[in-house]
Amino acid sequence: MPQTVTAWFELTADQRSLVGPLREFLKAEVAPGAVQRDETGEFPASIVQELGAMGVFGLQVPEELGGAGLDTATSALVIEEIAAVDGSLALTVASHNSLCVGHLLVAADAAQRREWLPPLATAERLGAWALTEPGAGSDAAALATKATRTSEGYAITGSKQFITQGTVGGVYVVMARTAEAAPGAARSDGISAFVLPGETPGLMRGKPEKKLGLRSSDTTPLVFDGVRVGGGALLGREGAAFADVARVLSGGRIGIGAMGIGLGRAALEKAGRYALERRQFGQALAKHQAVAFKLAEMATELEAARLLVMKAAALRDAGRDHTLAAAMAKLKGSVAGVNACDAAIQVLGGYGYLRDYEVERYWRDARLTRIGEGTDEIQHLIIAREYLRQLE
Ligand SMILES: Cc1cc2nc3c(=O)[nH]c(=O)nc-3n(C[C@H](O)[C@H](O)[C@H](O)COP(=O)(O)OP(=O)(O)OC[C@H]3O[C@@H](n4cnc5c(N)ncnc54)[C@H](O)[C@@H]3O)c2cc1C
Repeated sequence: MPQTVTAWFELTADQRSLVGPLREFLKAEVAPGAVQRDETGEFPASIVQELGAMGVFGLQVPEELGGAGLDTATSALVIEEIAAVDGSLALTVASHNSLCVGHLLVAADAAQRREWLPPLATAERLGAWALTEPGAGSDAAALATKATRTSEGYAITGSKQFITQGTVGGVYVVMARTAEAAPGAARSDGISAFVLPGETPGLMRGKPEKKLGLRSSDTTPLVFDGVRVGGGALLGREGAAFADVARVLSGGRIGIGAMGIGLGRAALEKAGRYALERRQFGQALAKHQAVAFKLAEMATELEAARLLVMKAAALRDAGRDHTLAAAMAKLKGSVAGVNACDAAIQVLGGYGYLRDYEVERYWRDARLTRIGEGTDEIQHLIIAREYLRQLE
């Protein structure tokens, strides 16, 4: 499975030792059932377990806690590889690693890390991360779920919407308001984060959502009905979780950018091969300049997006501010991915519109990348804000 064009960076020995066997596994075990899972929506539990054994569910978890101890750039490469074969699985892997595990890596204390990260790193437990609510999507600081103090800790009440791994999750990181924002403070002031096991009484899962794409990724609303957790469930400082949420989302956006690129790359490869084989007006489609130019545009945009993803990952790994770079990587990766899938449908003509040729699945799957973890419009807002700040 080639990259879109020759990558400008050499994979390190560690990256090669993960990506090589991963590609083999994806080809042999994941690709054959991807179409059927898209039809049935079945969650690939056994594939997840096998990937867990390969380290894919603990990408950035330190090795001493059972993880693969990889950096953000390598994690993005892994997500791109998986997305190029099965978008649903890519979202499962990306959200588990970047959101639930990502939040623990950002905010958990030593005891919390020892308790939660080992079972997450091996996929013994899958991670879910619950920020979005029916009344709080892009405006996440408007969340209304409340955590009130009890003698032993907190009681959480409220509802969450669109939670990936909502049903199959074994560990939930949940954002809830522990106090109203102080006068003059930002609205995000007073929001806290909690980690709790899936079997906690009072945590109720709704029916999995029926979606346009990513059908074998599990998306479920949640209801918290006085869910009692101990004081040890609090992640980071009470009332100050929103800064951690922003950091978690910046990491997640790098992964979603990579996911868009992986799907776009799969579409480009299908379109390229088709254009070489299919003949109309006496020659291969690829000889018609209008078709060849489409392929050129797809390849260039995907490569540009990959460079932005790698830049944002490098900044994150260097401990530098990457808010702007991650927003750009997410925006470019998702838009380039969706556009490549759309162009691939066009190159395949009527066949592109048929399920058998798969590019329509790539498009349906890729479409989410322009919505989840901050829509295109929210990325534009962040990019404009961060850019204008540099001029002040
Ligand atoms: C498959 C799937 C998986 C998801 N997984 C998770 C998960 O695991 N955990 C989680 O917490 N959430 C998850 N989400 C939620 C996702 O992050 C939200 O859907 C997303 O942030 C947008 O929120 P919304 O859907 O409420 O849209 P809204 O915020 O209602 O936005 C609707 C439209 O208005 C635009 N808009 C809103 N505000 C502005 C503004 N200020 N300026 C310009 N335009 C604006 C938006 O860009 C969008 O186009 C998931 C969603 C989906 C579909």
